[in-house]
Amino acid sequence: MILLDGKAYRKELLEEYKKEIEDKKLDITLAIIQIGNEPSSIAYIKNKIKYCDMVGIRTRLHYLGSKTTNEELKILINKLNLDDNITGIILQSPVPKGIDYVSCANLIDPKKDIDGFTKDNIYNLYNNKKGIVPCTPKGVVKLLKHYDIKLAGKTVALLGRGLVAGRPLMLMLENENATVTLCHSKTKNLKAITKEADIVISAVGKPNLITGDMVKEGFIGVDIGLTSVDGKLVGDFDFEAIKDKASYITPSPGGVGPMTISMIIENLIEAKKNKGKNV
Ligand code: NAP
Repeated sequence: MILLDGKAYRKELLEEYKKEIEDKKLDITLAIIQIGNEPSSIAYIKNKIKYCDMVGIRTRLHYLGSKTTNEELKILINKLNLDDNITGIILQSPVPKGIDYVSCANLIDPKKDIDGFTKDNIYNLYNNKKGIVPCTPKGVVKLLKHYDIKLAGKTVALLGRGLVAGRPLMLMLENENATVTLCHSKTKNLKAITKEADIVISAVGKPNLITGDMVKEGFIGVDIGLTSVDGKLVGDFDFEAIKDKASYITPSPGGVGPMTISMIIENLIEAKKNKGKNV
């Protein structure tokens, strides 16, 4: 079994990004919009600032109170869209209940849309055209390629159709010529699907969802799920029970998470290089 070590790969990638930013004197600033004080939002923001600092990317945090209206948020997004000093914009989720996340995130200039959530970038992904793509699925594909895992012709059981991970990953895997079965909470006989798959990817958020009897010998496993259990983060795989059947498998945490933050940096560098061009 080979561990798909996202943490080790992140270290390599960050060195490459830092060098590129220094060598090409790329002046990059990420604007992060925080609304309210949701603890997980604060933790994600802290992480983004930390890794941007490490590679020489400036961050600007725009804090809006938890009673902010959609109109007020739209005004800030428009202002940041017009600001030439801002390379990329992230509207941090989760946001308070009254905020229409999808509509507001869609107002971000597609060239500054680091999360790849705007209509234009989704349209490009849908049509397999160049554009900014969401960081978690991009990181999954990049990690698999780093380990020379060929996706063309492989069967993939992909669990979870969330907008951040599962659904865009389905498109990216299809763009790589894999054959994808997208599963969700209403899927019947999940085991029959996962057991046949060359690659099993889970983006659900349910610990121990994938057990030893659900995978075939030599399968490749990617665990995107992250759930806090007794203050400790765990993935969707029953890792100990399935690891010996795997040819390659991610740990969780330590697999996909480090790739997500790396792809934020990569998307920022791409946004800087593409400034002014059509996405
Ligand atoms: P989400 O939008 O809530 O999606 C969860 C998906 O799981 C839904 O499509 C749901 O089906 C499906 N599901 C629920 N129970 C299922 C079951 N028993 N079998 C198969 N599918 C089932 O969540 P998300 O934002 O995509 O996140 C999913 C997980 O990935 C979370 O643990 C999150 O923390 C993690 N995550 C990690 C990273 C990272 O960087 N490592 C990034 C993003 C997300 P329905 O559509 O039918 O409800």
